[in-house]
Amino acid sequence: MDVRLSEEHEALRRTVEAFAHDVVAPAIPALYASGTFPVDIVRQMGRMGLFGLPFPEEYGGMGGDYFALCLAIEELARVDSSVAITLEAAVSLGAMPIYRFGSEEQRRTWLPRLASGELLGAFGLTEPGGGSDAGATLTTAVQDGDQWVINGSKAFITNSGTELTGFVTVTAVTGAEPGGHKEISTILVPSGTPGLRVGPGYDKVGWRCSDTHELSFTDVRVPLANLVGERGRGYAQFLQILDEGRIAIAALSVGLAQGCVDESVRYATTREAFGRPIGGHQAVAFQVADLEVRAHTARLAYYDAAARMLRGEPFKRQAAIAKLYASEAAMDNARHATQIHGGYGFVNDHAVGRFYRDAKVLEIGEGTSEVQRMLIARDLGL
Ligand SMILES: Cc1cc2nc3c(=O)[nH]c(=O)nc-3n(C[C@H](O)[C@H](O)[C@H](O)COP(=O)(O)OP(=O)(O)OC[C@H]3O[C@@H](n4cnc5c(N)ncnc54)[C@H](O)[C@@H]3O)c2cc1C
Repeated sequence: MDVRLSEEHEALRRTVEAFAHDVVAPAIPALYASGTFPVDIVRQMGRMGLFGLPFPEEYGGMGGDYFALCLAIEELARVDSSVAITLEAAVSLGAMPIYRFGSEEQRRTWLPRLASGELLGAFGLTEPGGGSDAGATLTTAVQDGDQWVINGSKAFITNSGTELTGFVTVTAVTGAEPGGHKEISTILVPSGTPGLRVGPGYDKVGWRCSDTHELSFTDVRVPLANLVGERGRGYAQFLQILDEGRIAIAALSVGLAQGCVDESVRYATTREAFGRPIGGHQAVAFQVADLEVRAHTARLAYYDAAARMLRGEPFKRQAAIAKLYASEAAMDNARHATQIHGGYGFVNDHAVGRFYRDAKVLEIGEGTSEVQRMLIARDLGL
């Protein structure tokens, strides 16, 4: 039993920590205020190889593993969640379906450009009518000669409207199973395909620099070869991608929770009240201690889920536990860190105000807290 990082993982962690501190932290407040996608930062992350971390070198990747990706996401989120979710969604939701299920031709066409950060892939599962019930997909793809004709819409799709966006993979109903269930498949739609309309960016409470749009598809035609993986396996593929993605969202949540510790320790040692630093008052010190307990415990939960995944063992329950616990820890930490900052926590000069806005969506995206509890209970036989 050893939860220490390997030399390679620790070196990566330190590199991303320095990048987050030196490049992301100074730039993000202005970008966040204007809701601007941080394209220059994303390009720099591409040059650092962050988008290629878990992919083999033959596809232009760094030859690392999924845990390396999680470490990078955690370190970015210690400083800013918009940048962290841009990486998370691009790699674990955008590129991973191509790597896991795509044809060799799809891998060779797309992965090198995704791994370098030249292009971002988006993942279109959620529809305006619902996200938790992913099997209720209404978008359709009908075979017409050597093409799919896609009609429908998708909601809240991350990285779907940036100048770097290369494609969106969508789940669509392609027929009916023998038992009457919907046959759902995954189809890749390149950006700019006629009939694909990218709606305006959502006016979000948090993740204000992350790119999120509703997409509509009106008689969108793509070649049959754009099917990703087997026909009818789309639902199962997306569930697998989400199981992995939950570990990455847990890592993002831990980063935010740890950022709350960083900011609160700094503030509690410098801000004075009643003749001493506020950290000298035990009520404040105990709150900071509890922030650290939650961040540390949540980190162990995602390390465990990632370790199981890398060993090839079942990890669905542990990924759901990590995502549930870490996202709720992030939310609790953001609330307490804001309290520790007093009035200054409620103005945008301090990072904790941004953390407070950014934390809530962690309990919603890639499966709500209720969905995680459903998965855990089901895995326990309930
Ligand atoms: C900023 C942002 C980015 C996103 N990025 C993406 C993306 O890139 N790709 C993508 O496909 N999706 C994305 N999503 C969508 C996200 O995954 C969904 O919002 C989420 O899965 C919840 O779906 P919903 O919003 O339709 O809520 P609903 O499914 O309508 O749920 C509403 C409420 O009901 C609860 N609920 C539903 N069913 C049950 C049940 N059986 N038992 C108990 N409670 C239940 C839910 O937990 C929730 O509290 C993103 C969302 C946001 C906000």
